[in-house]
Amino acid sequence: MASSKTLEQAIADITIWRKGEQRAPHKPLLLLYVLANYQQGHARLFDYGTELHEKLLSLVERLGPQIKAHYPNMPFWRLKGDRFWDLKNTEFCSTNGSKQPPVKELVEHNVAGGFDEEHFALLGKNKNLIGSLAQQILEAHFPESIQEELADEMGFDIQQIRKVRDPLFRQQVLRAYNYECAICGFNMRHDNASVGLEAAHIKWKQFGGPCEIPNGLALCAIHHKAFDKGSM
Ligand SMILES: [Zn+2]
Repeated sequence: MASSKTLEQAIADITIWRKGEQRAPHKPLLLLYVLANYQQGHARLFDYGTELHEKLLSLVERLGPQIKAHYPNMPFWRLKGDRFWDLKNTEFCSTNGSKQPPVKELVEHNVAGGFDEEHFALLGKNKNLIGSLAQQILEAHFPESIQEELADEMGFDIQQIRKVRDPLFRQQVLRAYNYECAICGFNMRHDNASVGLEAAHIKWKQFGGPCEIPNGLALCAIHHKAFDKGSM
């Protein structure tokens, strides 16, 4: 039986593509995008070619790892192994296994995907579920500097993105960097306290990065955001 609990669990269990230290938030980004559209009243299924490909490509290019090529067809297809995702029109594709068919086939055959009927009905019945799932996905896969931006952009009303900061980590890292942004040297103070300076995790906490000085970097708010997005 599908319930909000089983759906939360299934989403917590989604398998994520990893290669060494590289993260691949493709599935989380796809799910956030789909949930955002459900919130706006979108029907259950999304046509891959006309509705998802371009959008997902631009999201992963912006927020995914810096690699030569992204394959948004991969998360779209492989979510079917995660117990709540449904695909339609796959019978015309050259493969039906766990490996995704080429983009061209998904487009040509109008392959569509979305939550399965049971779980989609659940989202319709429980209005708060979309927001709580979105929050769950944001917290599990993205650093705080990006959580809020993504929530805003996708239109999730997430009141309290949990601020699980370790105050000791911040103090130690800022001290180690002499209270200056490691990139631009920003070092504003007010009443002897640092302003606008943050302790960034070099390896994201979400990927097991420890709250220890060697994994820390003192950055101003702007460079923190840029750093977490991988643009530096
Ligand atoms: Zn800076």
